Amino acid sequence: MPRVFSGIQPTGEPHIGNYFGAMQNYVKLGNLYGKNSIYCVVDLHALTSPTSFDRELLAQRTFDMALANFAIGLDPQKVTFFVQSHVPEHQELSWIFTNITPVGDLERMTQYKDKTEKLESIPAGLLMYPVLMAADILLYKADTVPVGEDQTQHIELTREIARKFNHAFGETFPEPKAEYNRQALRIPGVDGNGKMGKSKGESSTIGLLEPLDSIWQKLRVAPTDPARVRRTDPGDPDKCLIGDYHKLFSDLPTIELVYQGCRTAGIGCVDCKKLLLQSMTEHLTPIQERAQELRGDPDFVRDALSQGAREARAIAAPIMEEVRTKVGFLKL
Ligand code: ATP
Ligand code: MG
Repeated sequence: MPRVFSGIQPTGEPHIGNYFGAMQNYVKLGNLYGKNSIYCVVDLHALTSPTSFDRELLAQRTFDMALANFAIGLDPQKVTFFVQSHVPEHQELSWIFTNITPVGDLERMTQYKDKTEKLESIPAGLLMYPVLMAADILLYKADTVPVGEDQTQHIELTREIARKFNHAFGETFPEPKAEYNRQALRIPGVDGNGKMGKSKGESSTIGLLEPLDSIWQKLRVAPTDPARVRRTDPGDPDKCLIGDYHKLFSDLPTIELVYQGCRTAGIGCVDCKKLLLQSMTEHLTPIQERAQELRGDPDFVRDALSQGAREARAIAAPIMEEVRTKVGFLKL
């Protein structure tokens, strides 16, 4: 049976990019593979972002990220769901992997380049990020990794680390493959500034649990096809992020209506955005209601996370022991 692993960083509110790009697949694969689907709020990864240097905020975001995943229908009784720092083996395996990973490979990662572009001082953790990610996945010998397209390069590096380890210490790890949602490979930010991302701040994201009036404020000013200067100009919905979002949230008749309307200038951008808000409202309201219910029962989330950490450790411990033996650490 395939084994699935994926992680999500508690670096801010989960957004519709995370949801369509990755979280929906957590649920889908969870329904197929049960406890063999392993999901993790990766708080150690979040430390690579200085906005996480706030003890209360990090803990709150970690809790909220778990809650959001349960709110979309991920059932912690059915899958394995836990917090990364609760399973210290992730760090142990990561250290071993740092020693078979060339610094040059890490410096070539586009996420590293993007995230360090504006930094004066680069924390070493940002460079090591993909090594820890390889450890996350391989600690469970996972072969399937539901992620957005931005993680492709990291998964390729994970495969290489697995190959190198196997070559140096004997056949141990599978070479995992990414599992994408083809309809949501890389959802654009609502500010029109590249990929939607938590660490890019609120102006980039449509939060999964964001109040709908706040979502509307962002949609209202969101850029559309620049060729549509006047209401009477025809536009290209494929060059418009509102068009992209319609494809995720709206039913087929609405998508046809707005796509056709945009091309013929039969619908204005404001009306198109209003229809989008309607579709978003239908989709997000049940998730937000479920999140509200879970907020009233924090013990549910806490109990699920401690149970999840026990389950994860039970899988990780023998694999880590195998690694220690193969590497040659002294046993007493
Ligand atoms: P950060 O900005 O802190 O890196 P993020 O929004 O990129 O946050 P991550 O926690 O890094 O979120 O990623 C969680 C999952 O969501 C990953 O599988 C990632 O590939 C996916 N993902 C993130 N942003 C998008 C997006 N815009 N479109 C599709 N998938 C995405
Ligand atoms: Mg990211």
